[in-house]
Order: sequence, then structure tokens, then C-alpha cells
Amino acid sequence: MIPVEELLDKIRAYNPKTEETLIRAAYEYGRQMHQGQYRHSGEDYFSHPVAVAYILASQRLDDATIITALLHDTIEDTRASYTQIADMFGGEIADLVDGVTKLTNLQLSSTETQQAENFRKLFMAMSKDMRVILVKLADRLHNMRTIKAMRPEKQLKKARETMDIFAPLAGRMGMQWMREELEDLAFKVINSEARASIIRRFLTLQKASDDVIGRITADMRHEFDKAGIKAEVLGRAKKPYSIWRKMQEKEIGFSRLSDIYGFRILTQTETDCYAALGAIHRRWFAVPGRFKDYISQPKSNGYRSIHTTVSGRDGKRVEVQIRTLQMHDVAETGVAAHWSYRDGERSENPFAVDPAKWIAGLTEQFDAEEDHAEFLEAVKLEMYADKVFCFTPKGEVVKLPRGATPIDFAYAIHTRIGHATVGAKIDGMRVPLWTRIKNGQSVEVITADGQTPQSTWLDIAVTGKARSAIRRALREIDRDRFIKLGWELARAAFDHVGKKATDKALETAARHLNMKTSDDVLARLGSAELTTVQVLNAIYPELMPDDAEEIGKDLAVIGLAADQSFDRALCCQPLPGERIVGITYRGRGVVVHAIDCDTLSNYDDQPQRWLDLHWHGGRHPAVYEVSLDVTIGNDAGVMGRICTLIGEQKANISDMTFVDRKPDFYRLQVDIELRDVEHLHGVISVLEAENDVAAIERLRDPARAAGATQDAM
Ligand code: MN
Repeated sequence: MIPVEELLDKIRAYNPKTEETLIRAAYEYGRQMHQGQYRHSGEDYFSHPVAVAYILASQRLDDATIITALLHDTIEDTRASYTQIADMFGGEIADLVDGVTKLTNLQLSSTETQQAENFRKLFMAMSKDMRVILVKLADRLHNMRTIKAMRPEKQLKKARETMDIFAPLAGRMGMQWMREELEDLAFKVINSEARASIIRRFLTLQKASDDVIGRITADMRHEFDKAGIKAEVLGRAKKPYSIWRKMQEKEIGFSRLSDIYGFRILTQTETDCYAALGAIHRRWFAVPGRFKDYISQPKSNGYRSIHTTVSGRDGKRVEVQIRTLQMHDVAETGVAAHWSYRDGERSENPFAVDPAKWIAGLTEQFDAEEDHAEFLEAVKLEMYADKVFCFTPKGEVVKLPRGATPIDFAYAIHTRIGHATVGAKIDGMRVPLWTRIKNGQSVEVITADGQTPQSTWLDIAVTGKARSAIRRALREIDRDRFIKLGWELARAAFDHVGKKATDKALETAARHLNMKTSDDVLARLGSAELTTVQVLNAIYPELMPDDAEEIGKDLAVIGLAADQSFDRALCCQPLPGERIVGITYRGRGVVVHAIDCDTLSNYDDQPQRWLDLHWHGGRHPAVYEVSLDVTIGNDAGVMGRICTLIGEQKANISDMTFVDRKPDFYRLQVDIELRDVEHLHGVISVLEAENDVAAIERLRDPARAAGATQDAM
């Protein structure tokens, strides 16, 4: 725990007139109140408020703010009360402590809209006294610095809050150093892999570029000495999180990021700022479009600085910010500059913005963004917890959803590469294609000419882009096969009626059948979506037998022996157009089941009874009964409408029974007679489109199997 003397030394250094007795009293009062309370780390609880006060003392803040920090958790966590604090330390401090307590009680991490609501509350609290926010931010900063003592889930929750709410808030208060530290601490918790990988990459780059920061700093100093400009040069690498964010925003690789390095030039006078700018632009190339003068046109929050980006002969770019020390103070501490002391006096930085004006600016910004989601989007720094970021061999960043595989990666690069994928390497090692990519890994796709997408890839890919590209490619491959098959079928069928299946004939058929090309006709022929009879009928109706001629029962199923007859199984009620199989019964003929019927497993041990069958491809009469399970709203007219709809589809209702009657709905079994599976789909579609039909399902009931069959004709 930081002793009171050390805290006082820190304060006296910038404010010799500090009210020592009051600070000592607050320290003692806080210590007593928190007596017997401990932090997760096992330390005395009071060490935390003292550390928060110390952070604020480092910001050179006034006595009231420091005392508020010492007492900030007393109302919430101890028997201390507002009145007691007001009696001992005055109303101003009691109000400040009360303000911090209110912020602590905000439920920050609920749904997004609520988070935005809470922002509003935060701003309202702020408009009373901004020092409340300064204490709250220092409180969060210390908690983040000591987060390791918490349970991992709690760490993650706190880190997200920090990233989503507190870091942006520090930014809006103009406290850049605080924002950066909060971001970095949260980043370490939320995505330590990515952070470590960026630091690693940075070190590699730093080594490869042979201490570029040191060299440029020395060069700049030399230029300023030559020109007689008094200036400090501070070179630094950007913080891992801001590099990470840039990589995401621009979706570019680490090595191509232009602004990994930033240089600050701090001068005594404004005149020297422009002189320094001149010296830099004489020595290096100014990158066009990157020059901004916030000294002649300051930002509304009081930020003043000249920004430029220059590049050396090697093409490496660096960002340069030039400002006076006073401007720098405002740029780093923001609104806190207003309260800060130097040599025992309010430092009266001429550039510090009046807190009231600051708030007005923030509130304006808030009102302009009425939509909560949009507002949150604007202030929230998305961490992409559901995304992974990986690198191409060239170091470019590829953003993928979590769970993505090298297949997704390959399609993300280019569809052509996706199609040709035969293997992948992750971090240089061969891996199976189903390997899930982790953050920071580099992925290399191995391709081969002539490779085509595999249907198993559909299970491996998770991105919509990859999946739809694979599906499209598979369809193309199938289509080629179907076209060849369709061509064979068409040639034979045309021959049969004494015609030639010429391109012209097929194009005519396409036109009559409302299709684009003759290939469309052939593909559908090949996939059995179209029959040769339909194609011939479209071109030569006069040659074709009457459409009404339907297939008789003896021809309906192909594959039966001459002395065999069939019945449809009651359990699955197969329809023409569905794949079927027959089960033979001694003396009772053959029962036809749908190939996916559950009942078939009963015959697994009797392979001699299975018969390979298929339906005749021609037009069947509407005699095949199917049961539907229909749930409808309780409305007098519904039954009538259902019967009409089914009738309009030229299907006959053979039976209708109530399964369940509730006050608000009926459930019934409707048995209808159909031509084939397409006919069924037509009926289901029109019923589904009816408002009062709540649910409709084809009834397939294994309970009805037990040898019972249903005569088809
Ligand atoms: Mn606290």
C-alpha cells in the first residue's frame, strides 16, 4: 500500500499549497472504513483507493479529486454515508464521491441498446462534474492494471467493458495516454495471442530495419540543430492495439502498414512548430494528402498539433506530430488539463478547454446520433471476438469467422484458388483441410491444376462465400454430366419417333418449355426433371399420343416379375417420383416402400426378400393415397377453403378425420389421392400459403406398417 507520505510528496511536487490535513484525514478515514476488507489479490482493500489517488496525483489534479479517489468506494462498500462524508469533508467532496458511486452502480455490460443508454447516463453524470469521470477512469485503470487476480470470466467481462466504454470515454475526454493504456490492458485479456503476435512481428521488423526509431530521431535532431530550432524529438512505435485496429480497418498486412512508427516534436513556441515542419519537409519527402494543421484550426476539444507523414529514400513512411509543450499537455491529458496544477497554481494552460464547452461538444455529438445501435457502433471499438485474423504468405491480413478452415481461407483469397485447393500449410506445416485456423497464424494454400471442389468440402467450409462457391461448382459439374446423359436420352427418343435431335429442334423445345438454352433442356432431361415425352410433345404434339393416356397399374412399377403384383406400404405411402424398394411376401405379392422408410430395417436380415424397383417414368393417374397432418386455426371457413384448394389442385380427398380439437386450433388427418410426388408438393405449397394453416406435414407412420398394405387401385 502506498503510504500517505509518498502520496503527499507526489502532490506537493506540483501543488505546494495542498491541504495536507484534509488529505491525511481522508486517507485515515478511508483506511478505517475499509478495515478488514481485502482485494482478490489478498492485499488490503484500501491499497486500491490509494493507488487510484496516486494515478490522479500523477495527473496533477486538485485536492478535491484526490480526496474523492481516496473515498470513492466508501459509500458503496462500507458503512460510510453521504452525510458523514459531507460533515467531515464538505458538500463538494460528498457530491463527487456520490457521483462515482452512481457510476459504479451502472450496469454496463448488458445489451447493446442498454449500453448506449448507460452512456447517456454517464454523460449526464459528467455534465454535473467531470472530475467524477476522471476518478472513475483512474479507478478502472487501476483495476485493469491488477486484473490478473480476477477469475478469467470476470477478467474478460471487465476487459470488454473497458474496451467498449472506458477507453473510448478516456479518448473523448482527450486523455490519450489513458486511452492507450486501457486499450492495451484490455487487449491483453481479450486477445493476448494477437497482441503477442504483433509485438513479435514488430520486434522482427525493428531488428530488420536496424533500429529505425533511433536513426530517424538522431537525423531529426541533427536537422533541428542545424536550423537552430529548440525541440524535443520523441520516437515511438504505435501501441499493439492501434496497429491491430489499423490492420483490421484497412485489411492490410503488418509490413505494409505505413504508420507503425510515430514521432512527436515538442517545441517551446508556436513559431518553432512551423520552423520544425519546414526542416522536416526539406529533409524528407512529404506524403501528399497527409498534412493537417490543427494549430491554425484546432479541434473542438482543444487539440492542437501539426500532422504530417514523410517518407525516406527507402520508402518507409513515418507519422510526425509537431506541437508546443502546452499543446502537448492538452493533447495528452485533455479535460484534466483544466484542473491541473503546476507550481501550486492552476496551470492555466491557455489551450485547455473549459469543461462546460467540452460537454456541450460531446452532447451535440450524442444528439446527432439518435440511433442507439449506430451510436454504439460509432464509439465501440469492435474486438471481433467472433473473428480470426490470419496472414497470407505475403503478410496480408485475412479476416474470417471463428472456426474457419483453409478452404474458407482459399476462397477468401480467390474463388479460382478455392476451387484448385489440394492442401494447406499453417505456419509452414502441412495440415488437413478441416483444421481450424487460429488468430495470428499464417496460412498457405497448395493448389493443383485440374482439381475440382469436393462435396465433402461443404462440411469443412464455414463461410457463406466458400460454401456457395463450392455448391455452384458442384452443380456445374453435375450439370455437365446431366447434359451428356440428357443428350443420349433425347437422341434415342427422337429416333423412336423418326426425328433427329438437332440443335435447332432442341432450341425450339427450350423456347416452348420456357427455358433459355438447349443445354437447359438436356440437363433437365438428364436429371429426370423433364421426360422425353414432354420434350417431344413440346415440338411435335401431333406425333404424340393423347396426354390423357395414363399408365395402368400393371405397368406402374418396373422390376416386378410377370406373376407379381404390388401394394404400397401404409407406413411410408411412396409416390411415383420417389425412390422405392420392394419387400416380397409369400402369396401376397410385393409391398413397395420408400427407400428411406424406417420400417425397412425390420428386413435387414432377409436380403432375399428385397426387390429393386422403380416407378414408371410416364404419367400416372391420381390414385395414390397420402395422409397429411394439418393443423388449422379454429375458423368456420377454413375447412371449406382447404377442400377447395385441394380440389383446385385436381387431387381427391378420400378421408378427413379430427386428431385433436383445441379451442383455438384443430388438427386433422387429411387423406388425398395424388398422381406423384410433384403433385404432392403442389398441394402442400398451396396449403402452406393459406393463412389459417398453421402447420402441415406428410404423415409417415411406422405404427401402420405391421404387414398392413393399401391397395393402389
Ligand atoms: Mn474502485
